[in-house]
Amino acid sequence: MVKATKARISQLLFLALFLLLFLQTEYRGHDQINAAVNSFFRADPLVLFSYLLAAKSWTWLLLPAVLMTLATLLLGRFFCGWICPLGTLLDLLTPKQRSTRPVPWLAGNLKYWLLLPLLSASLFNLNLAGLLDPIAILLRGMTFFFYPLLGLTAREGWVRLYGLIGEQRDSLAPAYGLLKNYLLPFRETLYPLAFVSALLLVLIILLERLETRAWCRHLCPLGTLLGWLGRFSPFKRIPPGLCGDCGQCRELCPTTFDQGGLNREECILCMECEQGCPNQRISFRPSWPLQLSEPVLPQRRLLLGGLAGGLLLAVPTRFRSPEKEAALLRPPGVRDEDDFLKKCVRCGECMKVCLKNALYPAAWQAGLDGIYTPLVIPRLGYCEYHCTLCGQVCPTGAIPNLAVEEKKRQVIGKAVFDKNHCLPFARRIDCIVCEEHCPIPDKAIRSREVRVMGLDGVMKTVKEPYVVEEICNGCGICENVCPVETRAGIKVHAVRNRAPITETASGQLGY
Ligand code: SF4
Ligand code: SF4
Repeated sequence: MVKATKARISQLLFLALFLLLFLQTEYRGHDQINAAVNSFFRADPLVLFSYLLAAKSWTWLLLPAVLMTLATLLLGRFFCGWICPLGTLLDLLTPKQRSTRPVPWLAGNLKYWLLLPLLSASLFNLNLAGLLDPIAILLRGMTFFFYPLLGLTAREGWVRLYGLIGEQRDSLAPAYGLLKNYLLPFRETLYPLAFVSALLLVLIILLERLETRAWCRHLCPLGTLLGWLGRFSPFKRIPPGLCGDCGQCRELCPTTFDQGGLNREECILCMECEQGCPNQRISFRPSWPLQLSEPVLPQRRLLLGGLAGGLLLAVPTRFRSPEKEAALLRPPGVRDEDDFLKKCVRCGECMKVCLKNALYPAAWQAGLDGIYTPLVIPRLGYCEYHCTLCGQVCPTGAIPNLAVEEKKRQVIGKAVFDKNHCLPFARRIDCIVCEEHCPIPDKAIRSREVRVMGLDGVMKTVKEPYVVEEICNGCGICENVCPVETRAGIKVHAVRNRAPITETASGQLGY
């Protein structure tokens, strides 16, 4: 039975908030998302530290994370016992599991060997913290796997119901409509890395079978960071150890009492010990002077190892193939690949919200440093001309939140005809599908009539398309709608200069 402690109530409320925001990160008929759907990331100190170290700049978007850091310095690691949705999920899914004896192969300094190289790699411009950030792991698992699966199951179920009860199913249509409007995904996308994302989440949950909150105690880099910050907090449990005549805390505490003394770094302030103490001896309150039981910094060996680990991770990723880079299309408004990689948390919010299914997580295409970052894949989806949703939900501003008119001018890439596949060139027949779909008011794809020799050897007039490069924003709709099967007759390529389309170009060309 899950007890209704204050921490538990708070956990449930924050989990509900997390799920509500998750559902709001979706196109539901409005161009503007008014809820702060990215709040959990914006209040995440691991995101803050890795961003500051990698980007070496400041964004006001992360002010909540600064406040969370200060609150942790003041109160301790309360985030893990009161807020973290992954921690709550672990508690809910395995409420009967109470094994607080540390798993030997996880115990020790492993958590520092994860956190320190991640932070140090950020210092060397490689921001991979999002790969192991618990909020990102949870969100990616849900976005890429479980949520589309839910949508698919619901839709299949709805179709099957028709087979079972026929037209009577229509009486349930309003309920299904409500589900579609408020709960189910706008579309069920099959994402790359879906299984990997789900597997990581499932493994974290399975670890609970070995030890309560095993992930939180031994692996989670956010928890480790918060635990380290929490050491400085004056807010403490009193008494700090097990009482000689009782020892009940050992049974009640989910994280810290494996050795008899309180490990402050691992205390998540759930206060179950206070509630359950048969002698009512326990209280949590500020206590001065501040005494640190452990050294302020991890051992020198760990620090140096962490620094070297980060460097080792970061150096090889500096070398990128220019050819590969030319194939990387980033969301609208992203101008500089290096800057983008330093700021993207790999949270998946932009991919979840993308209206036309243009964004997918990079698996291998962008190298190790680009894993899980969003790529535009025009053959699968395109960037809707009027849409600004990805910029609205990005928690760090890696994708800038632009006004619609400004966004329309952002260059994702430039379209180039592939004359071996494009029908007017390859087969000498008319096709103006891409021209018709081009959303630029004055058309970035146009055609001119030319006299050519048909494949049957007879001269004919064909409309030959061309790209007006100055006003093409690389939205990808042309590549998406191209009727040529497999490889499209037009392809969007990344360009080095992603400066927005200028007023002059637009004006001169009647844009
Ligand atoms: S340790 Fe990590 S996963 Fe566990 S509750 Fe804390 S932040 Fe969440
Ligand atoms: S670019 Fe996308 S994946 Fe990266 S931080 Fe922004 S919303 Fe998250």
